[in-house]
Amino acid sequence: MSPLKQLMKQYWGYDEFRPLQEEAMDAAYAGRDSLVVMPTGGGKSLCFQVPALASEGMAVVVSPLISLMKDQVDFLDSCGVAASCIHSGLDGAEKRIIDERLRAQSIKILYVAPERLAVPAFMEYLRKVPLSFFAIDEAHCISHWGHDFRPSYRELRALKMNFDGIPVHAYTATATSPVREDICAQLGLASPEILVGDFDRPNLTYSVLRQNNKKQQVLDCVERHSKESGIVYCPSRKKVEDMADFLSDSGHSALPYHAGMGDYERKRNQEAFTRSETDIIIATVAFGMGIDKPDVRFVIHAGMPKSLEHYQQEAGRAGRDGLASECVLLYSKADHGFWRRLLADLEDDVYSAAVGKLDDMNGYCTQVECRHKRLVEYFGQPFLKKECDACDVCLDEVDCHEDSLKIAQQVLTCVGILGDVAGPSYTTLVLAGANDERIRTKRHHELPVWGALSAHHRNDVRDWIEQLVGQGYLRKQGEYNILSVTDTGESVLLGDESPRLLKPAVRKPKGAQAQRKKTWEGVDMGLVDRLKAKRLELARERGKPAFVIFGDATLKDMALRQPQSYEELLNVQGIGEKKCNDFGGVFLEVIDQYQSGEGESVAEPSSESKAKPNRSEFAKARAFEGFVEGQAMEEVASRCGLTEKKAYSLLLEYISERDVLESWPWVSHGERSDIVKAVLAVGTGRRKTLFDYLGGQIAYEAIDIVLACLRNEELKRA
Ligand code: ADP
Repeated sequence: MSPLKQLMKQYWGYDEFRPLQEEAMDAAYAGRDSLVVMPTGGGKSLCFQVPALASEGMAVVVSPLISLMKDQVDFLDSCGVAASCIHSGLDGAEKRIIDERLRAQSIKILYVAPERLAVPAFMEYLRKVPLSFFAIDEAHCISHWGHDFRPSYRELRALKMNFDGIPVHAYTATATSPVREDICAQLGLASPEILVGDFDRPNLTYSVLRQNNKKQQVLDCVERHSKESGIVYCPSRKKVEDMADFLSDSGHSALPYHAGMGDYERKRNQEAFTRSETDIIIATVAFGMGIDKPDVRFVIHAGMPKSLEHYQQEAGRAGRDGLASECVLLYSKADHGFWRRLLADLEDDVYSAAVGKLDDMNGYCTQVECRHKRLVEYFGQPFLKKECDACDVCLDEVDCHEDSLKIAQQVLTCVGILGDVAGPSYTTLVLAGANDERIRTKRHHELPVWGALSAHHRNDVRDWIEQLVGQGYLRKQGEYNILSVTDTGESVLLGDESPRLLKPAVRKPKGAQAQRKKTWEGVDMGLVDRLKAKRLELARERGKPAFVIFGDATLKDMALRQPQSYEELLNVQGIGEKKCNDFGGVFLEVIDQYQSGEGESVAEPSSESKAKPNRSEFAKARAFEGFVEGQAMEEVASRCGLTEKKAYSLLLEYISERDVLESWPWVSHGERSDIVKAVLAVGTGRRKTLFDYLGGQIAYEAIDIVLACLRNEELKRA
C-alpha cells in the first residue's frame, strides 16, 4: 500500500481514493505546484490534508470563512491529525496555545484567512516555521472571472514572492477554462499539475418543477425526507420567513437564515443546522459558503438562481458524502424577468455576460434533456452516459405533450409571420386568439395563425414559447425580447426535428425516492436510527457537529457490516484508529443492544417481558457462569449459542463488572508477560502500537483481556 493510502486508512478510515485524489495527493507530496478542480463533495480537503500529514513541516491552508476552518479543524482533531486555525475570533489564551504549538512544530495543518497572509508580522512569523506547502481552498475567489470574487484573495498573489520555493496548491469546485488560467496566473503557479475531475454528481437526482403551489411543492419534497437535513433556498428575506413559518407550522423542524437577521440569531440557526439539531434551513443565497455538512439530503430552490454556476454550487451542497440526495428547482418564468431587471444596472459588457449566464440557466429549466448532461457539458466536459437514471427527464417524470411538434410548428410559424417584431407576450396573444386593440390595429386577427392555440390556456402557450427559447428553437433579442426563429427552429418547421414541450401538469418526482431506496438497500434502518441517535448524543455532549463524530456514509456502512469487535470496526468506511478508540466501544454497544433486541421501545414493558429476563440477559448470565468456571471463550460460545465475538465481548464485560485481575485461562502466562512488558515500553494509549510492538504475534483479543485486567488492578490500587 502506498504511504499516502496507508495514512488515509489509518487516520481517516478510508480504503480507496476517490477519482483524482491519488493524483492530487501525489502532486502535493512531490512538492510541485498544482491546481485541482473537483466538484463539491469530490473530496478536495483530503487532497491536501493527507500529503500535509505525510510531508515534513507544516501546511498552511487558506480558507475563506472561520466557520469552515473550525469545522475542518474539529474534524481533523477527531481523526487524530494535529491541526489548528488562526482567526480574528481567538482570545489571548487561545493565541498563546497556538503560538506554543507552532514553536514546538507540533501542528501539521494550519488554517488561516487570506487577509492574514497579507499582514507583514504574520508573514515574518510564518517564516520561522518549516513549511511543507500552501493550499488555497475555494481558489476561484481569486478570479474576477469567477462568480464569487473576493478582494482578500488577491493578497495571495504575494505568496510565491514571499515564500520562495514553497509549493502552492489551488483547489476549487467551479472553474471554467478562463477561470482556471486566471487562478494559475494570479497565484504565479510554476508549471503546475492541473487536474480536472469529473463534474458529474451521480448521487444527486435533479428535477425541475413548474411552480404552481410553491409551498405545497416544497412540503411534498420535505415530506419525502422526513427527519433528514435539507436546505430550501428562497429568493428574498420575506419569502424565507414565510416558508420557515409554513414548514414549522406543518410540523417540521425548520429555521430561517438571511442577511436581515441579527448576527447572533443567524449564527445560532446555522449552528443548529450544522449540528443536526434542526432538519431544515430556509435561506437566501447568503447561506452556504460556510456550510460543509456532508449529509444534506435535499436542496430545494424555490426560485431560479441567476446562473448555472450558482445552481451547481448551491445544489451541490447536497450529498457531499456520496449518498443519494435530491435537488429540486421550482421554476417560474417570472424568475427570469426578475433577474433581468436586477441585472439591468450592470455595465454593458458585464451585463451581456450576466444575461448570457441567466439565459443558460433558463434553458436548463425549460429544456427537456438529461439534466446531468446539461450541467456537465456546461462546465466543458463531455457526458458519455446515454441516460443518467437520476433526473426527472431520464426517469420519465416529465410529461411531454403528445402534440409537441404540431404546437411548436404553430408557434414558430407565428413568429415567422409576425416578422421578427414581437416579443413572447404579444406572440402569445396572437396564438391564443386575443381580441386586443393592438391586434386589431395591426390586423393580426386576420392572420392564419391567429387563435391557432386558442384551445390552450394562455399561460401554457407563453410557457411553451419559453421552452422553445430554452431549447434553442427560438431566440430572444434586444431590450424587448424580440423573437426570431433559429436554424434548428427551421428544421422543426420542416418536420426534421421535434421539440419536447412540457405538459402543464406538475407531478411528484418518484425517481429520487427510487434512487434513495437503492442506496440504502439491505441496510437495517432501525439500526441506522439507533446509531444516529447515539451520534447526536455524543455530538451534543461535545458541542460539535454530528459529522465530526461519524458521517452518514459511515453509519450506513456500520449498519451493513454490524461489526462485533474493534478490528471489524476498523473495516468500516470512515473509521480510523483514533475514532475507533474514542467511539468504538459506544457504537459496538449500540449494535450489540440492537441485535439482542434491547431498548427497542421506550414504552412501558409488558408484564410478560417484565417478568422474564430477555434473551441476551439469559445468554449473559450463562456466559458469566462459564467464565467463573474457567471455561475458554470458544467453549462458552458453543454452550450458550453465541458467536465467538459475542462471547469475547461478554468476557470483557465480565472482567470489568466482576473486577477480575487474572487473565488466565483466556491468555497464557507467557503471552500475558509479553503484553505487560509491551505496556511498560509503549504505554496503553493505542492497541495498534502494542500490537505492532509485539510483532503482530499476539491477537488483539488477548491484548484487550490483559489490558482490562490491568485496569482493574490499577483501580484497586487507586
Ligand atoms: P469537497 O471539499 O470536495 O467538497 P470534502 O473534502 O468535504 O469535499 O469531502 C466530502 C466528503 O467525502 C467528506 O465527508 C469526506 O470525509 C468524504 N471523503 C473524502 N475522501 C473520501 C474517500 N476517499 N473515501 C470516502 N469518503 C471520502
